[in-house]
Amino acid sequence: MKQFKTESKRILDLMINSIYTNKEIFLRELISNASDAIDKLKFISLTDTSIGSDFKINITANKQERTLTIEDNGIGMTDKDLEKNLGTIAESGTLKFKTENEGKTDNELIGQFGVGFYSAFMVADKIEVYTKAYGSDIAYKWTSSGAEGYTIEQTEKDGYGTKIVMSLKADNDDFKYSDFLEEYKISSLIKEYSDYIRYPIQMMMTRSKIKDGSPEDKPEYEQVKELETLNSMVPLWKKPKSEVTDENLKEFYKNEFHDYADPLKSVYAKIEGAVTYDTLLFVPSRAPYDYFSKDYKKGVKLYCNGVMIMEKCEQLIPDYFGFVKGIVDSSDLSLNISREILQQDRQVKAIANGLEKKIISELKKMMEEDRENYEKLFAEFGLSIKFGVYAGFGMNKDKLKDLLMFYSSKKEKLVTLAEYVKDMPLSQTEIYYACGESYDKIATLPQIEKAKDKGYEILFFKDGVDEFVAKILIDFEGKKFKSVSEADFSLDTEEEKKELESKNEQLKELLTAIKEDLGDKVKEVKLTSKLKTYPVCLTASGEISIEMEKVFNSMPNADGKMKADKILEISSEHKILDKLQKLHAEDRDALKKYSTVLYEQARLLEGLSIDDVTTFVTALSDII
Ligand code: ADP
Repeated sequence: MKQFKTESKRILDLMINSIYTNKEIFLRELISNASDAIDKLKFISLTDTSIGSDFKINITANKQERTLTIEDNGIGMTDKDLEKNLGTIAESGTLKFKTENEGKTDNELIGQFGVGFYSAFMVADKIEVYTKAYGSDIAYKWTSSGAEGYTIEQTEKDGYGTKIVMSLKADNDDFKYSDFLEEYKISSLIKEYSDYIRYPIQMMMTRSKIKDGSPEDKPEYEQVKELETLNSMVPLWKKPKSEVTDENLKEFYKNEFHDYADPLKSVYAKIEGAVTYDTLLFVPSRAPYDYFSKDYKKGVKLYCNGVMIMEKCEQLIPDYFGFVKGIVDSSDLSLNISREILQQDRQVKAIANGLEKKIISELKKMMEEDRENYEKLFAEFGLSIKFGVYAGFGMNKDKLKDLLMFYSSKKEKLVTLAEYVKDMPLSQTEIYYACGESYDKIATLPQIEKAKDKGYEILFFKDGVDEFVAKILIDFEGKKFKSVSEADFSLDTEEEKKELESKNEQLKELLTAIKEDLGDKVKEVKLTSKLKTYPVCLTASGEISIEMEKVFNSMPNADGKMKADKILEISSEHKILDKLQKLHAEDRDALKKYSTVLYEQARLLEGLSIDDVTTFVTALSDII
């Protein structure tokens, strides 16, 4: 009996005693090893015609013996290969294991190695490997029942290749290992993980057939065993582009990602460069119910040469495109790539960059050529893109800003920032926006009325993140963003501005009195020319806008301290001014009540709640 190398033994121990939930991956691992072994012999067969071309992988389940056998007719192993390959784990793995893995859990460790031949020990307590290497006359049998060690002896075997016989562990309360002897289980695992292996994976399957000679009107059935190929062998993404229709892509998406609706967008691309890969990308027509929650897991399926190595590889997709689903298949990746390695892997990074570029260009194209669907997409996932602009102090804003859309007061539909800027009158130097909970509510903001009257286009920001996006962008094509709720927002000419200034000067005493009445609720009270029918509005000066105050204060841990510097603006053209002047001269108490009512009214118009209900109600009923 030979001993495993120390580090291998530790990993073996882990596999044997593992409570790893994903035990079924052993099948994928063994099949992909078999496929690799066939790849190697197939390569040799190009020059050695004696080898033949009937490559396949065979699976046999024997319920009496409780064994599962996987056999390939690939390159096989010599006794030295057996020693080297199945007696140790890869050198790089050993090193990593020593230095980095103190204190990690089973699952993390297996997730890291999660791979290879040893994973068979998760389900088997004894493994026999019969193998004959290409070019060798002698076959060998490797046997191990786990951590104690292994034996290698000569044996008899027809043909080249490797046969792995696993004696499955006894079933227990936690796990039913005998499931791996069921035809349905094996065939579904193969469909799931190994469908695109390029060699047939075959197994005897039990089928019901009409008995020969049974009457046509009353057919009799019998159970027969037939050798079936369980994998489809040709992945859609390996077909030439000219053979793949949009319909094929839609069907594939629905099957693969269990959606009953067609995707809004399908992309099929073959990318050649520093890293070569094929990819299928899809944008679903609806956001999954948990899309904006912590539970949602983004990522695309990652294949290496037709072998799936990861269900959801999150490193390949940035958060803001987390809604994109798809598949990447590259032969430039290592099959044993682990989650930890993925993060630093140069190839993975190159693919991630390529995918991001591809997604951006496809979305831009969609925006131009298929606007209706792009608008649908933006309605579902626009928020995700906006968060992307804002996240990380705007580090991705330049890539994403062209994908943004906002509702336009003038066109009454979504427009891009480029479209907005293009349609700006020459006299306009800034991009105007207004914030609120809904388009309806924004439309009734006092400041909007006059701006609309004057023919200006205003973007309606209804998502909490919108204004943060504008602040992070600072400008678009050199045009700064300007909120209609900022105190210094003005549509006046220089002359009109001067006129307003002198009016403010004239009524200084009145305005100061109102400011005194309101105390530190407002920073300033002044006249304005922005209003048409409304008597007042509330604006903000300084860094925090009224909208931001709302957003901050609606957060779970809000302490209510985040406050905008508010300015009460009174319409210089409204007849309420006469009344206020009169009260200021004759009835100071009454003016105070008017101040309260006007202030609270302005809050309501801005979508804020009433500050002091009792004082407001008393003041209002007194006035009435
Ligand atoms: P990996 O496949 O990642 O290298 P494994 O532990 O699965 O790691 O396998 C170790 C080595 O054993 C393989 O690299 C290969 O050389 C050899 N091997 C495994 N399975 C087979 C097989 N079915 N036929 C030939 N060689 C095999």
